[in-house]
Amino acid sequence: MRVCLFLLIILSWCCLVTALSFGNDFNGSIPSILGLTNFAYPTASSNIDFGYADGVVNTDYHQPWPLVKMYKASVHLIRYCYADQASRDALYCSFPAAENLWRDALGGRPGKETGYNLHLAQAWAAGGIQFCYAEGTYDSKTAQGTWNWKLHDKQDTLVVAYRPVDEKGNMPATSASLGYTLESALLPWQNPQARHYMQISNKDDKVRIAHELGHVFGLLHEHQRSDRDVVIEYRPENIAGYAEALAAAINDNVPEAEARQKLRDDVSFCQKYNFRGSAYVKNADQPAPIMGDPTQGPLDFDFESLMIYPSDAQTDTAACRADISHCPIVRRAGTGTDGKPKFEYIAAKGKPSAKDAEFVRKHYAWRDEDLGQRRKRS
Ligand SMILES: [Zn+2]
Repeated sequence: MRVCLFLLIILSWCCLVTALSFGNDFNGSIPSILGLTNFAYPTASSNIDFGYADGVVNTDYHQPWPLVKMYKASVHLIRYCYADQASRDALYCSFPAAENLWRDALGGRPGKETGYNLHLAQAWAAGGIQFCYAEGTYDSKTAQGTWNWKLHDKQDTLVVAYRPVDEKGNMPATSASLGYTLESALLPWQNPQARHYMQISNKDDKVRIAHELGHVFGLLHEHQRSDRDVVIEYRPENIAGYAEALAAAINDNVPEAEARQKLRDDVSFCQKYNFRGSAYVKNADQPAPIMGDPTQGPLDFDFESLMIYPSDAQTDTAACRADISHCPIVRRAGTGTDGKPKFEYIAAKGKPSAKDAEFVRKHYAWRDEDLGQRRKRS
């Protein structure tokens, strides 16, 4: 039995993926394909991109995915299941296509030459390929269902769920869990099932799915680095929904200056007022091992990362494109001849960057000793 055949079974799917729309389709915004420029707010039950969320890595709660014994070899394995048949039907092309974007960035399949050992494989059990939830129990509005107990010994399986636009035109937030969480690290009231998840709203956007995969691998948002202010100017008031969040906070008797400061710097405050600026708050506990060497400072900042938002995300895209002062984040570009600071747009990305790939090689490195006896065969 060849390990690689088993591991790479999902890659046998061949699909044509529709042209991507990317740029302003982050986190619960209305897709540009609908021709709308105004945003619908995420529903109260949904949340904003959790990827950066609890921010600390190399703890029990956020780790790289562990090595799993497969026959004689050890591999970093992300076993995944589609939430239900509808999720599979929606994502069976774009999810592997997103994986392929990573594969291309890494120079090919996992192996000695490419230097990484990270595999994705669809979960199966007696009866074949398994969905995450028992038939007819998954509700895409709440992303909840009854766990499929054929997967009982695989509770760390990544749930890949499709959450389409609802009847009111609201697009549920696209989000993903960060890295791997040990079952032993869960709090008593947390279920081990579905602790690893990707919730996808725009089913054809393989680039966005690849961004979420970056979170699943353990990557945070580049623009949330604690040193980002050196190279980026952040203007939270340009994010859609700022005025409403500010008004709601003031209505709750929060002084205006304090509300403005917290809408910039406080994740839970942003979330309390359903403000998407939470995905821009600087991560004070920037975990150096997963984010790069902090001694390199902003020189190490990766503007090519798939994990940085483009300037026109989360805002009135047309206004931002017409006038850079309307964008939430812009790149600092020195000083003009008039003595004023200059800024540049941060472009949308279409693939993981070289440094994103480096991150994968760092935490999922290929090591000959993980091969076991297979290394003697060829
Ligand atoms: Zn993200």
